[in-house]
Amino acid sequence: MMLIPCPWCGPRNEIEFHYGGQAEVRYPVDPQAVSDEDWARFLFFRDNPKGMFTERWSHAAGCRRWFTVRRDTVTNEIHPDDGASNARTVTR
Ligand SMILES: [Zn+2]
Repeated sequence: MMLIPCPWCGPRNEIEFHYGGQAEVRYPVDPQAVSDEDWARFLFFRDNPKGMFTERWSHAAGCRRWFTVRRDTVTNEIHPDDGASNARTVTR
């Protein structure tokens, strides 16, 4: 069991949450100018690190709010997002 710290409700069992994937994947600034290859990369490609990973979670069975955390993918240790990670943007 993994305890996920909802910023509003406190630590709760992981079964109350919905995983939202990698955080800070920005929508392209000009979608019409993005090549098919870069559009596919924006839609389907995500980082898969061994270690710290910034990701989105929704407290679906609780307050229903979305929030960002940093999780160690090896140990499942979770920390609040400190905003230190860099957002990725498709620019072409
Ligand atoms: Zn909550």
